[in-house]
Amino acid sequence: MLEIRFHGRGGQGAVTSAEMIALAAIAEGKYAQAFPSFGPERRGAPVLAFVRVSEDKPIKIRAGITKPDMVVVMDPSLARITDVTAGLKDDGTVVINTKRSAGEIQAVFGGKWPVVTVNASAIARELLGVNIVNTTMLGAMLRALPVVKTDSLEGPLNHRFGARARSNYQAALRAFKEAAVKEKSATPEKPKMQFTPERVLTWKEMLPGCAVTEPGSTAQYSTGDWRSQRPVWNHDLCIKCGICYLVCPQECISQDEQKWFGANLYHCYGCGTCSTECPTRAISMVEEGE
Ligand code: SF4
Ligand code: SF4
Repeated sequence: MLEIRFHGRGGQGAVTSAEMIALAAIAEGKYAQAFPSFGPERRGAPVLAFVRVSEDKPIKIRAGITKPDMVVVMDPSLARITDVTAGLKDDGTVVINTKRSAGEIQAVFGGKWPVVTVNASAIARELLGVNIVNTTMLGAMLRALPVVKTDSLEGPLNHRFGARARSNYQAALRAFKEAAVKEKSATPEKPKMQFTPERVLTWKEMLPGCAVTEPGSTAQYSTGDWRSQRPVWNHDLCIKCGICYLVCPQECISQDEQKWFGANLYHCYGCGTCSTECPTRAISMVEEGE
C-alpha cells in the first residue's frame, strides 16, 4: 500500500488533489481512500490531505498518515513553519512546488530523500490563470511515483472541473514533463533549515477546555504564518476612510503617525477582506515570496 500526504493551505485544493488520485486509482481497479485534516478552517491556513492506494487489498485503516511514502508540498512557505518531512520513510520522496532548483531543495533537506521540484505556481498561472496548483502538482507527483497512470486522471478531472478539466489536465501533463528530479545523497547531512522553530502550542496540542494561565498570550500566536498572500497599501489611492480597519477579522490593521492604515503582518493571515472591501482599490494582495 502507498501512503501520500499533501501539505497545502486552505484554498489551494490539496483535498481535491487527494480525491483526484483516489478516484483515478479506483478507476484503475485499485483500492483507495482520500480524506483531509483541517486545522483552522480559514483560507491560507495549513491543511493536510491523505491518500492511500492499494493494488489488491481493501484498505481498512482510517487514521491520518504519519509515515508517508511521499509528501507533496503545494506551498513552499509551509516548509518554514511545519516539518513537512515528519515521519517520511527512508525510501520516501519529497515533491515540492518551488522556483528553486532540485539541487538547492535537496540540500535543504540534507540529501536524505529524493526531491522532485516543479514551478507549479508559474504553470498554473499560465494555463489556468490562477495560482491554484492542486491539479498541476498531480503531474509532478506522478513523475516521482506512478501511483496511477496520467491518463487515469482525465475521468476524475472531467467530473470535477467540467469545462475547465482540459486546462487542468494540461497543467498536470506540463508539470509531469517539467519536474526536475534529484536523487537522494549517498552521504546525507543534517537538514540546513530549521523547519520547526520554537513556538507556542498549536490548537491540536492543547487539551480541550484548557485554561488561559497567562492573560494576553493569544497575541503570541503567529497567525501570519498561515498567509500565502499579504496586503500592500497604495497611499496614492487611499482616502483614509478606515473601512479596511473595520472589516479586518484579525483586527490587525492600525494607523501610523501620518494616519495611513497598514497591517501587523505577524497576525495578518492574508484573507484579503481588506483588499476586497476597500472602496478605492488601494490594497493589493501580493504573493509571499519563498
Ligand atoms: S479601505 Fe482603502 S481607502 Fe479606506 S482607509 Fe483602507 S486602504 Fe484607505
Ligand atoms: S483583512 Fe487584510 S489585514 Fe486583515 S487579516 Fe485579512 S488580509 Fe490581513
